[in-house]
Amino acid sequence: MRVDMRVETICEKPAIYRLTWGAGALYVFSLMLLPHVELRYVDETIGYGTFATRFIPRGTITWVRDALDQVFSVAQVEAMHPTYRSVLERYSYIDGAGDRILCWDHARFVNHSCRATCLAPGFDFEIAVRDILAGEELTDDYGTLNTEIFNCLCREPTCRGVVRADDVFVHGDAWDALLVDAFPAVATVHQPLWELVKEKDEVAEVLAGRAALPSCRLFAATARTPRQRLELEARATGSPGP
Ligand SMILES: [Zn+2]
Repeated sequence: MRVDMRVETICEKPAIYRLTWGAGALYVFSLMLLPHVELRYVDETIGYGTFATRFIPRGTITWVRDALDQVFSVAQVEAMHPTYRSVLERYSYIDGAGDRILCWDHARFVNHSCRATCLAPGFDFEIAVRDILAGEELTDDYGTLNTEIFNCLCREPTCRGVVRADDVFVHGDAWDALLVDAFPAVATVHQPLWELVKEKDEVAEVLAGRAALPSCRLFAATARTPRQRLELEARATGSPGP
């Protein structure tokens, strides 16, 4: 049987393509919304990772939560077949509302590092907190993503060994300091993803010095019930807790 397959370019920058396969079948895909990033196989343990093919300067918006990302509520995840659940647990993160977000592009392959190249302030996007050289891996810190506890394999000298969901309460100040240092460069470097940023007015206020940069803790803190949040904060600060 002959199946007609057609690939159309919907948009050059960011790269979005439409794959039409047979009668009405449609699949939209991209390498990664951020240009000059490619997927590479790292090794058997880590799997794939995302790597810069060109220099990406500090302050570049490297990821934006966009309209094509898939959102799954807790109830939807619980009703899923275990096969789907295990895929989600590996490739998704949990947002401030407690929903699981599965990035549709290669952003879902961004690995954790205890010395991450990219971090998210309290906005729905990440920025490069230092210059990323061509060939260097783009990473973020899963301590900000409400993920389950895991043993870290990042091999950085500053590796925490075990990454926990409440790391954001322990290390949030240090991550916020990196973000505050890097954020002014948001205004000065080329921003291929700027059109997708939802918080343009709030970013302008921060860049103008009229508002503080929202903390990276924002999404982590709201992803839990008030009691869970108090417990996590208490554990992080060493106080007796609720
Ligand atoms: Zn590590």
